[in-house]
Amino acid sequence: MTSATSAPRKPLLPLDEAVAQLLAAVAPLTATEQVSTFDADGRVLACAVVSSLQVPAFDNSAMDGYALRAEDVVLGSRELPVAQRIAAGVVGDALQAGTAARIFTGAPLPSGADAVVMQEDCTPLNDGRYGAHGCIRVNTTPLPGQHIRRAGEDVQHGQCVLPAGTRLGPAELGLVASIGMAQLDVVRKPRVALFSTGDELVMPGAVAPQDMPLGAIYNSNRFFLRALLRRMGCEVADLGIVPDTLSATKAALQGAAAQNDVILTSGGVSVGEEDHVKPAVQSLGTLDLWQIGIKPGKPFAHGRIGAAHFIGLPGNPVSSYVTFWLLVRPFLLRLQGVQEVAPKSIAVRADFDWPKVDKRREFLRVRRNAHGGLDLFRSQSSGVLTSVVWADGLVDVPPGQPIVYGQTVQYIPFSELQ
Ligand code: AMP
Ligand code: MG
Repeated sequence: MTSATSAPRKPLLPLDEAVAQLLAAVAPLTATEQVSTFDADGRVLACAVVSSLQVPAFDNSAMDGYALRAEDVVLGSRELPVAQRIAAGVVGDALQAGTAARIFTGAPLPSGADAVVMQEDCTPLNDGRYGAHGCIRVNTTPLPGQHIRRAGEDVQHGQCVLPAGTRLGPAELGLVASIGMAQLDVVRKPRVALFSTGDELVMPGAVAPQDMPLGAIYNSNRFFLRALLRRMGCEVADLGIVPDTLSATKAALQGAAAQNDVILTSGGVSVGEEDHVKPAVQSLGTLDLWQIGIKPGKPFAHGRIGAAHFIGLPGNPVSSYVTFWLLVRPFLLRLQGVQEVAPKSIAVRADFDWPKVDKRREFLRVRRNAHGGLDLFRSQSSGVLTSVVWADGLVDVPPGQPIVYGQTVQYIPFSELQ
């Protein structure tokens, strides 16, 4: 433990500087692989996707209704014979002046037509005066171009729809499918070895809750870190809990470094702690121990063992969770070639007071309420995992600044961090 009278503390490193240093250390992965578009959710594009067609490929109807020439209705003849029927996937004949075509959503617009009137604005008059399709009375004055989806209004031929470095989600997958891409070139998955340190840790299932010895706790970090890594598109080598001896820690690190791009650990990076991770990393490679000016968080380590990065997160579960989002997420995204890695915050009203100022930048666990404001979780302790479950985001509080009820604050939704 450091005391108030001991040697001067290392100044706290601002979060933005820590992120910048971390990103500066990343050499993005260059290996790529081809995957089915079906399997590309969460992956990062290795090259730009350029469209070899326009979308829509042809002018088509945006409604179920009738294609016609707008001027035929303006000229007073509001009754038009229906000369043809065009379903989606069917190509109709050229529209003759003074006629309408029954048309359905997505069907190609017949040449000569310049408007679609929705069927709700027409009355069918099947009085036998006309052929099989009858006749309609148009009960509206159509404007030229209405209810027509123009060819190329979504995507143009030769357009780059997604640049290299795009992280693919459901919307992106739909877009690339719409231009006919069944396979995509993506960056290979980062390989990340994960292990927990701490002799107090017990795996759920190994000991029943009623039999847990005093001082033992369940390993919770392993579960959320593994899930977070997977969501960040990583292949996880889960090494479990590494015994708290120097030799076991060194062996685990050495083995992991040879086969992985990153080694992520939790616990044992606090100042003054008797721990084997620090000396083990230092003996095998290099290590920077940072005291980052954030709360929760603070202790964080980055180093190298051979070609692998070492990242040490704090052991406190909420600190581990929050530092993953704020530091590890940008790191892993950049490793996969993503440029924009900073979480976006939005201005929202705080429906709470936060009078306790801290010299560190704080990330409070909050939740949006039905009145457009933010509520604060009852405990902001770094060990309280119920806070991150209850919360739907973080409020980014600048160092030394209290929050007064009703004030606008910067809010980072967890959804922004997926
Ligand atoms: P440390 O960073 O190792 O000093 O740990 C700080 C606190 O986090 C201690 O209370 C640890 O018991 C706890 N902790 C460390 N690792 C884990 C883990 N994997 N799961 C749950 N709690 C942990
Ligand atoms: Mg520990």
